[in-house]
Amino acid sequence: MARTNANEGRVKPVDATLGTMHVLRRERISPSFARVTLGGGDVAAFRYLGFDQWFRLFLPVSEASLSRLPATLDTFAYLRYLAIAKTDRPVLRNYTVRAYRPDGPEGPELDVDFVLHGSAAEGTSGPAATWAETCAAGDAVGILDEGLMCAPPADRSSVAVLVGDETAVPAAMGILESMPRDARGTAYLEIPHPDDRQSVDAPEGVDVRWIVREDAAAVPGAAALSALVADALPAGPFYAWAAGEQALAAGARRHWVSGGVPKNAIRFCGYWKARRH
Ligand SMILES: Cc1cc2nc3c(=O)[nH]c(=O)nc-3n(C[C@H](O)[C@H](O)[C@H](O)COP(=O)(O)OP(=O)(O)OC[C@H]3O[C@@H](n4cnc5c(N)ncnc54)[C@H](O)[C@@H]3O)c2cc1C
Repeated sequence: MARTNANEGRVKPVDATLGTMHVLRRERISPSFARVTLGGGDVAAFRYLGFDQWFRLFLPVSEASLSRLPATLDTFAYLRYLAIAKTDRPVLRNYTVRAYRPDGPEGPELDVDFVLHGSAAEGTSGPAATWAETCAAGDAVGILDEGLMCAPPADRSSVAVLVGDETAVPAAMGILESMPRDARGTAYLEIPHPDDRQSVDAPEGVDVRWIVREDAAAVPGAAALSALVADALPAGPFYAWAAGEQALAAGARRHWVSGGVPKNAIRFCGYWKARRH
């Protein structure tokens, strides 16, 4: 994970032990997203908190590689994880809970929306995106719940400003769906393709603006940052959340801080870092 102040407003998970789940199904929900639905295994023990709840996802690289994982991930366990030979060490990436249904047809279900980036053939994709395109029902993964970065503010009168690129769309959807119904604000969400828009049960007072990236070669997040900066800051107290490519998260934070927004009203997280050519 790139730069963040996530620890400041963090809501810890109810259960921080590693669980195993299995792929129930995979669906291409739009040009840039695959939705993988997980269930079985330890899914019933998962405690859904809404908002931008995220988790560490372990993808097996060999038959028994998940059995090598530690039960928790403190510093010592992480070092032990790193000491596993590369041929057996599960791939570790961070993802967001897009939805959790306690009452799916085969028991509880957890949806994860993966951005399908790059090309596996040209070596510009990554293991998680490739897995999301190729996984099959029954495949096992390890999940370690990490709780929330965007704790809901105690002051319900605050206006919310959210900004993210496509990797932050699942988290922004979760925040919008979890907000109090009388919340007000604006969400700036950048997506690669017009059909990547999702319908979301956002509070009526929150303006959800989808910003379609016009230039496919542009660094994701730049268009959302431009849209954010072009608007005046809301008058009165507000809280701000920025997530996505590192330059978007850092740029949004800079914009807010220079506009006089108190640092403790800002949550920002660089979800990933683009290759700069
Ligand atoms: C808390 C948190 C929650 C997240 N939630 C989600 C989520 O719900 N859905 C989601 O899709 N992502 C999410 N991300 C981002 C995701 O973890 C990264 O995009 C991750 O790097 C993808 O792993 P990979 O194995 O596909 O690619 P990697 O092996 O990590 O990277 C390979 C190459 O691809 C580039 N790259 C990585 N991601 C992207 C991208 N999206 N677009 C273009 N190039 C990219 C890298 O710069 C690198 O050059 C989240 C990140 C964090 C920290």
